Amino acid sequence: MTDFPVDQLPDGESLPETAYQVVHDEAMLDGNARLNLATFVGTWMDDQATRLYVETADKNMVDKDEYPQTAAIETRCWKMIGRLWNAPDPERAIGTSTIGSSEACMLGGLALKRRWQKARRAEGKSTDKPNLVLSSAVQVCWEKFCNYWDVEPRFVPITEEHKVLDGHDLDRYVDENTIGVVAIMGVTYTGMYEPVARISEALDRIQEAKGLDVKIHVDGASGGMIAPFLQPDLEWDFRVDRVVSISTSAHKYGLVFPGLGWVVWRSVDDLPSDLVFDVTYLGGHMPTFALNFSRPGAQVLLQYYLFLRLGRDGYYRVQKATQDIAVYLASEIAKMPAFDLWNDGTDIPVFAWRLTEGYTDKWNLYHLSERLRLKGWLVPAYPMPDDLTDVVVQRIVVRSGLSRSLAESLIQDIREAVDYLDDLESPMPTEGLTSTFTH
Ligand SMILES: *Cc1c(COP(=O)(O)O)cnc(C)c1O
Repeated sequence: MTDFPVDQLPDGESLPETAYQVVHDEAMLDGNARLNLATFVGTWMDDQATRLYVETADKNMVDKDEYPQTAAIETRCWKMIGRLWNAPDPERAIGTSTIGSSEACMLGGLALKRRWQKARRAEGKSTDKPNLVLSSAVQVCWEKFCNYWDVEPRFVPITEEHKVLDGHDLDRYVDENTIGVVAIMGVTYTGMYEPVARISEALDRIQEAKGLDVKIHVDGASGGMIAPFLQPDLEWDFRVDRVVSISTSAHKYGLVFPGLGWVVWRSVDDLPSDLVFDVTYLGGHMPTFALNFSRPGAQVLLQYYLFLRLGRDGYYRVQKATQDIAVYLASEIAKMPAFDLWNDGTDIPVFAWRLTEGYTDKWNLYHLSERLRLKGWLVPAYPMPDDLTDVVVQRIVVRSGLSRSLAESLIQDIREAVDYLDDLESPMPTEGLTSTFTH
């Protein structure tokens, strides 16, 4: 057996079979994706998709010249998505694929910032202090956006009364330097939707009172591919006039292998043209707006494959089945006296719970998380963000592939773990416990 150095480039060559076996075996040590109820990211596609993936692994998305068909398919995909999100004039909407929601959110945020800068300059006003208003429960990509692009984040804390950003008190955060408000469709911590229409109404009132016209970017990392199928009557998308851009992770409920995301603007007018670069191909021009240059094109083809394969009906069927499992799991957990449900999985198929107040001093949700890990389940426990940092919750993300019978075994394992912990003679030690949050 060849012994490879761990962190040094080996001096010599090895046989492809040998190197393959080493990498293959190491990758096997990663957790079992099926039992990972922490991640939002897809881990399964069917055989045809896997075949397409292998066939197209060499395509570079940025080579519009060499791969004009992949470029055309990318455009078809974001046009389909723009329609799915009810763009009022789909022919005037504009979008792009990205490496994931993080890049898509960066682009949405940059467009908001540039739009605000232009309006301010036109009025001869300062552009020194842009701020972005968002929930304290935003995904880390928004903290990155604010940090990398020098925008002050104005976090609206969540509370027991206001579990999500809901427009309450918004006038205390929004001012003339606000580049926009972020609304999350599927808060990472809990899976709850933020009421985009209500946030928009609060901004209408602010506009009436102060004359400020503040737009919304919807971070639909998960919900962007759930709400159109499972909550078609909920108005969260371009039906809300203030929503100028929406992003999603195709590798979450878009059901594509990682990494792919999408961002679509309501209209070309909402994407300042000086952010867009021209790439020439086939004698024509291709506008691009992206942080990356080269990136894989295969995922875009996989998204197109799935759109053709599933259609609206298929996406509905898959998402509904996933949600049914989430609702089932939530209802079973609600029945256990140890737990107090935070939400029930009827927004995106994600829900969280906390320990019932006064239930026990012997153990907490971190201990339960550890017990479940012994059975292979990854069910993270973590503190909530401001102003609820003293609340610890545990969360399950249901993805396609978690069958009813697996869900039943999970419930059984949770019951057994609780019984075990309840029966302990003395309290579990609380040192060295870490939260296991996966965004
Ligand atoms: C997952 C997630 C992101 C980041 O998405 P990536 O595709 O992993 O970059 C952003 N916002 C929310 C609400 C998310 O759930």
